[in-house]
Amino acid sequence: MKATAGACALALSIVLHAPSALAKTPVATGTGGAVATISEQASQSALGILNAGGNAIDAAVAAAATLGVTDPFSCGIGGGGFMVIYLARDKRVITIDHRETAPASFTPAAFLENGKPVDFDTAVASGASVGVPGTVRGWHEALERYGTMRFRQVLAPAIKVADKGYTVTEIFSHLTAQNERKFQLYAPTSALYLRKGKALQPGALIRNPGMARAYREIASGGVEAFYEGPIARAIVDAVNKPPLAPGKSARAGRMTMADLANYEARIRQPLRTTYRGYEIFGMPLPSSGGATVAQALNILEGFDLKGMPRARAEHLYLEASRLAFADRNAYLADPEYIDAPVAGILSKEYAAQRRSLIGAQAARKVSAGDPYSYQNDQSVPLRPPAVKMQRENAHTTHLTVSDKDGNVVSYTFTIESWGGSGIVVPGYGFLLNNELTDFDFSGPHPNVPEAGKRPRSSMAPTIALKDGKPAFTIGSPGGSTIITTVLQTIFNYIDLGMPMDQALDAPRLSECNCEATSIEPGFAGSEQARALEKFGHRWDAAVEEIGAANALVFNPDGTVTAVSEGKRHGVGSALVQRRGH
Ligand code: GLU
Repeated sequence: MKATAGACALALSIVLHAPSALAKTPVATGTGGAVATISEQASQSALGILNAGGNAIDAAVAAAATLGVTDPFSCGIGGGGFMVIYLARDKRVITIDHRETAPASFTPAAFLENGKPVDFDTAVASGASVGVPGTVRGWHEALERYGTMRFRQVLAPAIKVADKGYTVTEIFSHLTAQNERKFQLYAPTSALYLRKGKALQPGALIRNPGMARAYREIASGGVEAFYEGPIARAIVDAVNKPPLAPGKSARAGRMTMADLANYEARIRQPLRTTYRGYEIFGMPLPSSGGATVAQALNILEGFDLKGMPRARAEHLYLEASRLAFADRNAYLADPEYIDAPVAGILSKEYAAQRRSLIGAQAARKVSAGDPYSYQNDQSVPLRPPAVKMQRENAHTTHLTVSDKDGNVVSYTFTIESWGGSGIVVPGYGFLLNNELTDFDFSGPHPNVPEAGKRPRSSMAPTIALKDGKPAFTIGSPGGSTIITTVLQTIFNYIDLGMPMDQALDAPRLSECNCEATSIEPGFAGSEQARALEKFGHRWDAAVEEIGAANALVFNPDGTVTAVSEGKRHGVGSALVQRRGH
């Protein structure tokens, strides 16, 4: 059914001057379980589940479901993600890949017109960019395999927030304003998130009964309610015949009920490397996050960073990132479709060879190396031509939770761009992703679009162990800058010896083997910037906040410190079950 703007407007209730949000605490230390997210309500949801006897997996799903309500432009059940879990009883790390997939109708020409790539923004705001959502299947697998609670319990806090409403924050209002044109395309989106075509002001209260309804149907009908029931039908209709506002147009997609019914999450072995006494566990392909962070760390490991001036260490961090990105950009994609040379990329010998390319001055741009020579299996050596890095948007959310029994979750999930495709599913209040624009639009490239394929991601939820026990977690939003934020935070924490809150707060420098390094407001002209310029580093003119990260630190005295953002994205929320030592 196609909803009209009028019908959807009834679903939205706006009350100006509502009470301001609860005060957020970005750092908390204590015992029992802990959580860090970017949303006070989401952290509270996780804490409530922990206090009710749920484990970290239950609490992570509860937090994620709440983030879907309060941060609907960066994540939700219309998207997908990657969850890394440390299981205390088994002393092992496992991952759940619930990345969106291309429908069975997809082809390598999906984003070409007359042989040329279509305009990126037009592709984003369309039914054609929507991948089959993986989030609900991922949550289901997490709860069934490793949780203790059912959907009914863990979705309850999010349903409450969607029903009662939440206050529009500065950042929410700002993100809506940035996306007005995209949201104006679609009737249900305009009705839910705009007023007279404009962004809601900070202080307005939004209720989302449609999303509460979707969660209720999942709570009572289970995972099938999403993938086979009326929600599935509504998704397919919205993709194939986008619910346009009068006079607007957008490309349609081609998704079927079978695409949804056939969707599977994948349980994957984590990707593992070692770094200065830590074991670092990350996400394997189709996310390039784990491999690229690991490769850059392997390159850095050969330098005595502690014994050198900070600017020189940061120069090496930037160059290691540049080299790892050259390989990432050339080789990595969905492993079910491409024989990516991950073993070579992770080899310490290959890292040594890449390290030898780092000079006293910043390189402008480096070529991909030859990781195939560093792995036993040299079959199907696809050596693609050098490619220009395709534009990648930078959004998403990351959360992390631990429980009193020592289970730990590091979880990043997304709908890709802010506001995804811009399509709110009529009647159900959630935005559909535009994850398929994470494919490279034209080949030859391992990451070209194909039927059933998962577009390459940068998401890098990470868990680090030391002496066989959890030491810290880290993860971030931010498209390709996810990788550099995770890498830089590990570098700040381990090599520069910063406490985790400072490691997170420090200015982010993101080098993706581009012409210039991405920086944040206030960095250019600083002493730190000038010191790096002496090594030949140059800064991108487009300056914006990079990645609101979240972390946990397991302290030697048995306490846990939850760390969220002190400044970015309107300040994050860190909570522990029992505060203090
Ligand atoms: N689509 C991105 C990825 O998978 C995540 C969204 C973002 O942070 O931009 O890497």
